[in-house]
Formats: sequence, structure tokens, C-alpha cells
Amino acid sequence: MSLGTAIYNDLGMKKGSVMAILSPNCLEYVPVLYGIMMVGVTATTLNPGYTPGEIAYQLNDSKADSIVIHAALLDNLKKAEPELIKPLKHVVVIGDKPENSEHLWYDDLAAGDGESLPKVDIDVKRDIALLPYSSGTTGRPKGVALSNFNLAVNVTQTQDGGLMPIEHGVKQLALLPLFHMYGLLMCGNIGVRSGWTMSILPAFDPVEFLETIQNDKIELMHIVPPLVVFLAKHPLVDNYDLTSIKSIFSAAAPLGRDTAELLAKRLPWVDTIRQGYGMTEMSPVSHLDSDQPTMGSVGVLVSNTEAKFLDPESHEEIEVTPGQVGELCIRGPQVMLGYLNRPEETDATMTSDGFLRTGDVGHMDEKNHLFIHDRLKELIKVKGLQVAPTELEDHLISHPSVSDAAVIARYDEFAGELPKAYVVKTAGASETEENIREWLNGLHAKHKHLCEVEFIDAIPKNPSGKILRRLLRDKEKASQAEK
Ligand code: AMP
Repeated sequence: MSLGTAIYNDLGMKKGSVMAILSPNCLEYVPVLYGIMMVGVTATTLNPGYTPGEIAYQLNDSKADSIVIHAALLDNLKKAEPELIKPLKHVVVIGDKPENSEHLWYDDLAAGDGESLPKVDIDVKRDIALLPYSSGTTGRPKGVALSNFNLAVNVTQTQDGGLMPIEHGVKQLALLPLFHMYGLLMCGNIGVRSGWTMSILPAFDPVEFLETIQNDKIELMHIVPPLVVFLAKHPLVDNYDLTSIKSIFSAAAPLGRDTAELLAKRLPWVDTIRQGYGMTEMSPVSHLDSDQPTMGSVGVLVSNTEAKFLDPESHEEIEVTPGQVGELCIRGPQVMLGYLNRPEETDATMTSDGFLRTGDVGHMDEKNHLFIHDRLKELIKVKGLQVAPTELEDHLISHPSVSDAAVIARYDEFAGELPKAYVVKTAGASETEENIREWLNGLHAKHKHLCEVEFIDAIPKNPSGKILRRLLRDKEKASQAEK
């Protein structure tokens, strides 16, 4: 683990500085992350699909002064650089080093002896180890400040009581993106702690996915609901021997009971198909199903974690009785330190007695299994990845032909949800719906691309100006039903 030594001794990066990681899943990802965190530097992880504008937003917001980047993404970084508030001090590149490169290369830095690992005084409960980004219950993406303690404790919480296997050598598919907390926990922290053998894939390609399961005899898979749909329905699946799979685990977005049942029928040898539930702000897990799953449930609370419900309308605390529906709030050692430099947003997300408001609505049954019904918050989830409507709306409103806009989710069988925009045109503007859609999509990573722009006379709002998203969602549902 000599990257830590190198960035500390040779690059002079010290506690309090922030180093970004911009890379698809690769062998180097986890050692890079641990190298950064072990010398007290904060790591912020970016989606490798980000556009230059999105890269600049996160680098500026997190105040990252250096970056570890995959060689394939250097062009995007170059395009982002003019938008950076402060130029980056160090750019460390992962990949095959060409001759005469002017860059610093990870392989050279990591080749050091690693013996002189510096002794850094880290407060494991207070210092920020990791800064993934999440929009939380409202607004634009924010840096979620997680400590070493948050991260380590969530590994043990998910393995307590045998909820996740601890045996060495379990063959796991590491396809979930490592920049997202679900991937980082399951394919990074837990996998490394347990000594699982990981087959790392940088992106989803149907054939590569199925070939890897077959050839590497994958036993354990952590995936998102769209991949459950793929495994349950896609004709290609029948061409492969997938009998090595023992356990499939889905999280990050709702998994339909019918889909899970369909998958169980198609792969009858799989011992368990189960769910977990979490949020980046909870490092990320609060609920996991046991190896005797209850269909439709996202599981029971992990250890040392408390839950309570708030009334979705009045926000008053309500008694949790079986079947009672409310907004789920979670308290436990995995809950974030707060949002970076955003005390107001942090206060709005935490209750006065230290519970995190999840913005998700659900109920528990008599055995404390949690069922998620709906999202109170505006967040849209496309294939398990976050889309913050505010971010798209802010950009839409900056367009000269747009006087107002609102973005909501449309149901999609494969992606789960897709963002759709309602737009009010400025008087006399000649722009078409398609022009505006294409322009906006060019500014964002693929998972944020709008499926449709629809012109509308006015965006429904309450007297204080808050968008009445529910009305737009109902309008969208009605128009889908008519089709
Ligand atoms: P993220 O911070 O990107 O992990 O997103 C967290 C959000 O994803 C949660 O607040 C939920 O809205 C949603 N989510 C995560 N897991 C599940 C699940 N098993 N079922 C339904 N929604 C989920």
C-alpha cells in the first residue's frame, strides 16, 4: 500500500486535503482509495461517465486539489480544467504509461517500498475519510462526509449475524460501480475484508456479464433491479451456464416482487434472492434481508441501528406498529457526519435527536421486515444511480428559451425510472422540445438524460413557490396510461 506513502511523502498531501478518484472499476481502484484514506487525506469518488461540467462541479464543491484518474478519461479532465476554481496540484494517472508522458503515473508512485508509511494522527470518528456525492432529500448533489468509523462499522453491521458471508474465496462479481457507496461497500470494503475473489467489470455489457458469471463460476452477485430484470427476462441468459450462482442481492432502487419471483423461477438453483436498503448518507446500509428472505421486503435493521417513522404530512413522530406507514428515519453509527460545508442542509436532514430522515416512505410488518412504498424526496433513480431534478432544472432554466421547468420520474421497466422535463417556453421562443432535450442531455452523464421534454403552460407550484411534483407525476402517469 505504498500509494499512501507516495502521496504523503512525495506529493506532500496531508490531512485535510482532498483527492478525487475518477475511474471506472479496475484493479487499482480499491488500493488507490485505501492509499488516500490511510494517510488521512479525504477521497471523493466521481462517476466516470461524468461530463466535463459535472467533473468540474464536484472538484470545485469538494475542494479537491488533486486527482487520480484513469488514462481514458484525461480528455474529459482537460475540458473540465477551465471551469476549476483552483488548478489541480497533482494528476496521477492509472493505466498503461506511454513513452515520454508528462504525467505522474500510479504504477510509478505505487512501486515504492511502502515501508516508510507515515504515522498520521487520524480521528477515526471525526475526520472525513470519504466524500461520495448525493442529493439527499432535496437540491443538487452534495458531499456526504463519512468517517473511517462510519465505513468500518457498516462492514461489520452487514456481516453481523451472518447477513453477508464472511468466508474467504467466495467468488463475487464486482460490477457495481465503485464510485457509488453500494458498490464501494459490497465490492470494495466487504469483499476485501472477507477475502472474496472478485471478478471486476468496468461496465455492463450483456455478453461480458454472462460470460464472466459462467467462466469465473460466480457465486455471489450484488446487483441493481434493472439487472434482475435482465436476468429474469432476457433471452440471451438461456445460452449460458449460470448454475454457479448461489446468492443474488439487489439494492439501490425498488425491486418488484413479480420480477424477483420471475428470476427465482428462471434460476431455481439460486439459494437466495434478497434485498438490502440504504443511502449514501448511511455508509450506506441500514436494512438487509436474511438468507430466508421475505418477498418484497428490503430486510430488517442491521445491528446497532434504530428506526422511527414520521407522519409524511405533519412530520410528527408516529408510533411504529405493524402496517403503520411513515417516513423512515435511521439512527446508528453508520450515519454520516453531515453534508460538506452545508450546515443548513445537514440540519434539515437530521432530526433533533440524531435520526437521519431518509425521504423514503414505508411500513414494517410484525417481524420488523421493512417494505418501501414510495419516495417523498424528489430524487430520481435511474438503474440505481442518482438523478437530482434540481440539477437538471437549474440547467434548463439557464436556457434562453426556457422560462420555467420541472423534472420528474417516468416509470421504466428496465431502468426503473427515467427523468422527464416539463418546460414552460419563454414568449416567442422557437425551440422545439427535441432541441431542448438534446441540448440538456449534452451537459450530463448518460443516466441523467431526459427521456422526454413536454411543453406546458405553467409549472404547478404551492404558494411559497415549491414545485408540486406529485401533480406532474400524476399527469405523467395518466398520459402513459392513455398510450
Ligand atoms: P443512494 O444514496 O444513491 O444509495 O440512494 C438512496 C436511495 O435509493 C434511498 O433513499 C431509496 O430511495 C433508494 N433505495 C435504496 N435501496 C432501495 C430498495 N431496496 N428499495 C427501494 N428503494 C431503495
